[in-house]
Amino acid sequence: MNNQMKDKISGLFSSLFTGIFIFLFFTVTPEIKAQDEDIVKDLLKTVDILNETLLDMTALTDDQENAIGEEMDKQISQDLRFTNERKFDLKSIFKKLMKYVERKSINYNYKVVQTDEVNAYAISGGYMYVNTGILDFLDDENEIAFVLAHEISHNEKKHCIKRVQYAALATSVDPSFGEIVQMAYNMYSLPFSKYDEFEADDNGVFLMQKAGYDKSGAVSFFEKLEELEKEYGIDQRDAVNDFISSHPTAKERRERILKMD
Ligand SMILES: [Zn+2]
Repeated sequence: MNNQMKDKISGLFSSLFTGIFIFLFFTVTPEIKAQDEDIVKDLLKTVDILNETLLDMTALTDDQENAIGEEMDKQISQDLRFTNERKFDLKSIFKKLMKYVERKSINYNYKVVQTDEVNAYAISGGYMYVNTGILDFLDDENEIAFVLAHEISHNEKKHCIKRVQYAALATSVDPSFGEIVQMAYNMYSLPFSKYDEFEADDNGVFLMQKAGYDKSGAVSFFEKLEELEKEYGIDQRDAVNDFISSHPTAKERRERILKMD
């Protein structure tokens, strides 16, 4: 997209956002009443749809996304020690889940990282990292199936690549491929928003169930995580932790999943 068009679109969006925020400021502060909450939800949804439209216009192809993932993986892998899978047959769990992914041309793959931290994470292009710490922490195949399905869902729902697109849009000049990879690398350890986490949980449960796993694995996973959150303390986690987070908490996530059909 050329810069003039980009400027036009960002101008349009910033005035729209300003309008929405002024509206929100006068209608929902200082107290949010029950009926106002629906208005806020509707507005947030509108913002979301507009965001999606903007991102669709600047979308990267799946091939480009895979290429970004491949380059990032090279950089990330320099600092990690990989090992063979243990305890669970990850290969077969992964294969079962893969049958039901929607983004067929994404290069989904995973690596097992030798480190005690209870964590797994995903980057653009379907690359996933599963720590031995999380494998040791879990007991049930349904639990690890949920963890994998959740990480897959961050790419199914384009959470990883969206951040890269936002960063690329924010630059005044069209960035080169190398610069986009660098942006992606700088951002991969930032936490996802609460909404992205909820969406990855929802899609994760949906995906695991399609592959024949039981939702109880997601519930017991978050139960265990609730205990671990108390031990860990938020400050002790590594920079990249997709599960131990102050928002949303394991409790919130477990309760949402329990309510799902
Ligand atoms: Zn996540």
